[in-house]
Amino acid sequence: MRVLWRGLTMACGVCGARGLFEKWGMFSITQDCPRCGLHFERMEGHSLGAVAINTVTSSALVLVVVALSLVVLGTDVSTSFLLVIAAPVGVVFPILFDPISRTLWNAVELLMRPVSDEELDPRFRAGSSE
Ligand SMILES: [Zn+2]
Repeated sequence: MRVLWRGLTMACGVCGARGLFEKWGMFSITQDCPRCGLHFERMEGHSLGAVAINTVTSSALVLVVVALSLVVLGTDVSTSFLLVIAAPVGVVFPILFDPISRTLWNAVELLMRPVSDEELDPRFRAGSSE
């Protein structure tokens, strides 16, 4: 749970370090964790998982917005009005969620394939029991 929480809060899944992004929403996570040295692109195509998480979450959110609109406003509401409500969510949310999707995918991937000692900075290994 701690690893997933770190992923959700944009921290490193291994050591919990923060400040992994140059700027919020700039799609630029650092190559390696500044504290434990974990290389975030752990294998070729690693970031596709983050794209998948972002796509699924954003789609689900758009569906929830449309469903809530139908519940609150009734089914007589026009399709174009629903589009006006849902489209900004579908455009803005994936951009804002991008950094979280990256660290979250990292956390999920760490749970599926635990980190090996060789992936971490030797100085971090020496100073931590994790
Ligand atoms: Zn780290």
